[in-house]
Amino acid sequence: MGRSPTSQANSGETPLRLLVVEDDKDLNRQLVTALEQAGYAVDRAHDGEDGWFLGDTEPYDAIILDIGLPKKDGIRVLEDWRAAGRKTPVLILTARDRWSDKVRGFDAGADDYVAKPFHMEEVLARIRALLRRAAGHASSDLVCGPILLDTRGGRVAVDGNPIKLTSHEFRLLSYLMHHTGRVVSRTELVEHIYDQDFDRDSNTIEVFVGRLRKKLGVDAIQTVRGLGYIIAPPGIEADPATPKSAH
Ligand code: CA
Repeated sequence: MGRSPTSQANSGETPLRLLVVEDDKDLNRQLVTALEQAGYAVDRAHDGEDGWFLGDTEPYDAIILDIGLPKKDGIRVLEDWRAAGRKTPVLILTARDRWSDKVRGFDAGADDYVAKPFHMEEVLARIRALLRRAAGHASSDLVCGPILLDTRGGRVAVDGNPIKLTSHEFRLLSYLMHHTGRVVSRTELVEHIYDQDFDRDSNTIEVFVGRLRKKLGVDAIQTVRGLGYIIAPPGIEADPATPKSAH
């Protein structure tokens, strides 16, 4: 099941960690494949109980949730997540002729919907928009000092020069840039840049950060000793309260 960290960083959208809950096996596979090709780390569930459990215990950046699910209805799954305080952005999949599903879905806490049958491109675009909104960004470009990260094209540039990153380097940078100004712990990074089946090792985070500094500039990512890493918010050179480590 383990998916290798192939170099997908330049082929798609913001690579973060997603969950797909869909009982139709073909559709589930198509969604997972398309999302993985776009560079996301993706977990899957085929019924409402498994889906609810994963969404309740794993820190996904967004979830695609079918409404008609065995074992536990999609609306119930969503209601239970929201009742438990889970704020993960959720895109629901509804049947085209069931307008009432959309109403029930929004009332239950859905952030957006796509009606079946859909074009995969629309799902990808809506997921990108959800992730941007969740991070408080209106544009598909994230800019921080000289660094530009194009979430739509999956590209990174420093001072206008394109930089080639591996998929894990891209995910790590993308996560930090979606959360500029906040210290992100190594554990949190591990949880968000690998899918469930990947052999996780928090020591590798240090390696990725080291490589990113080589490619982007040593000051691109600050270490906050004992706490984690931070990228200063746009327009701010470095947070004076942030102790700057010697890397
Ligand atoms: Ca279904």
